[in-house]
Amino acid sequence: MHGLMQNRPLLVSSLLTHAQRFHARREIVSLLVDGRTHRSSWGEIGARAQRLANAMAALGVVDSTRVGTLAWNTHRHLELYFAVPGMGAVLHTVNPRLHLDQIAYIIDHAGDEVLCFDLSFSDLVQALAPRCPKVKTWVALCDESQTPQIPGVAVRAYESLLDAAAPHFDWPVLDEQQASSLCYTSGTTGNPKGVLYSHRSTVLHCFAACAADGLGMAARDSVLLVVPLFHVNAWGVPFAGAMCGAKLVLPGPNLSGEAIYRLMRDERCNFSLGVPTVWLGLFDHIERHRESLDLSQIRLERVVIGGSAAPRALIEKFDALFGAFAIHAWGMTETGPLGTIGRLLAQHEGLSGAARHDVQCKAGRAIYGVDIEIFGPDGKPLPHDGVAFGELRARGPWVAAGYFGLDASAVDADGWFTTGDVATVDADGYIQITDRAKDVIKSGGEWISSIELENIAVGHPAVQEAAVIGVAHRRWQERPLLLVHLKPGARIDREALLAWFEGKVASWCRPDDVVIVDSLPHTATGKLQKRTLREQYQGYRLPTDPD
Ligand code: ADP
Repeated sequence: MHGLMQNRPLLVSSLLTHAQRFHARREIVSLLVDGRTHRSSWGEIGARAQRLANAMAALGVVDSTRVGTLAWNTHRHLELYFAVPGMGAVLHTVNPRLHLDQIAYIIDHAGDEVLCFDLSFSDLVQALAPRCPKVKTWVALCDESQTPQIPGVAVRAYESLLDAAAPHFDWPVLDEQQASSLCYTSGTTGNPKGVLYSHRSTVLHCFAACAADGLGMAARDSVLLVVPLFHVNAWGVPFAGAMCGAKLVLPGPNLSGEAIYRLMRDERCNFSLGVPTVWLGLFDHIERHRESLDLSQIRLERVVIGGSAAPRALIEKFDALFGAFAIHAWGMTETGPLGTIGRLLAQHEGLSGAARHDVQCKAGRAIYGVDIEIFGPDGKPLPHDGVAFGELRARGPWVAAGYFGLDASAVDADGWFTTGDVATVDADGYIQITDRAKDVIKSGGEWISSIELENIAVGHPAVQEAAVIGVAHRRWQERPLLLVHLKPGARIDREALLAWFEGKVASWCRPDDVVIVDSLPHTATGKLQKRTLREQYQGYRLPTDPD
């Protein structure tokens, strides 16, 4: 017997329609590429998205057409986020920080027919155009008067397209399983792979973002969206923001510590999300200008740290400087990305300081919608004791089942997606990522977590950023080498840094050597590029290596 409830599909357009009807005046603030601040609202975004859908239809966009973007976090990009899926097409957000060859590959592989770009990517578009023959229309996200002249490329101005379009568009009632957006993984190994989200997965994911034990997003939040719209749908926040009617503050291209601080203060943001690198930049700015800044003007209550392990020092600083609760979250492009979220349980009530930070340092617990499990080398599930670690797998309605354009399934017979992460799960269900499977250091049959050593190094006051890689060792196969980038003006030698690890980790896990470097390489999503480092230090001779 079927239930007798209304069978209304879960569609991206319904999120926007709700925000437009019930949160019309709630603000959307953007810093534009030309430096101006633009103020809009959910009401305006809703109205302009309808014009945009008509404009896209006039360009030949139909059901399932891929529309690509090379764009920062601005109101125009947000309009594309709703208009393109809303009309039944697929929004493909391209990460502009990738290498040109990868960008060309991704645009071509996705089959993008329209490509919308911010003015700062005009040179990139010039280089891409001859390599992306499937793109029929290039749209610059600007006014007519700002339209860039790109030799050999006919460019349309976004605002002119909107001006010429009819104001009303009826969002079609689509199948909720229809594809809505497409994001490629960074492809740290092999070619990038496309994760194709559906309307249903997107809307369900929003409920997790808005749930109290999820990200707890609500109408009264003013959200500083530091995580780029070109990275995993900005962790789903644009959609969740529409669901709950939050104010969104979009920082455009400037993610410097100073710009983030200013926006957070001026727009009274109480919630923000970003990768650790961005937060390190924010605290660097604060430490350098401590005398002139009045931190009591910052209203931050919660901040999400994800994308890579949150160093303890960051969690402590958010608490000490702003009284803000750092939510440590784990996920990946293939998991929507929200997978596990670090909120407290009843037994943590009243915990403060170090004891609470211990809980926050774990990468969170499974939220309803994403089932997780760890598996040993024999393929059997491991105990949830916080000690046993194994391959982390996930399954659920917003976890990938396959990749765009690839025939093979991405899940095993039991429906699990293998994440490539190695983790522990404790008795309360909190996970701890001990490493990427390929970054773990295999020392004489034991595994050493590079992430744990990096977190300890970053806790040293002289250290800006740290990376630990395994280098070949004749006795132990592999031993950890610590690479550190010091804070400006800081000085410390190798012995003092090695001594810093004493008592913080088992002696056999301590790094064998330290190299102080001017900078560390990052991937296009701001993560440490360990592969490059491993190549660079291949053949490095550790002082502990026997002659
Ligand atoms: P990409 O592969 O494009 O860099 P993803 O965002 O898909 O980007 O990366 C997902 C990976 O990031 C995870 O598999 C994991 O290795 C790492 N990661 C994400 N969050 C955390 C976290 N809280 N702690 C440790 N690693 C994390």
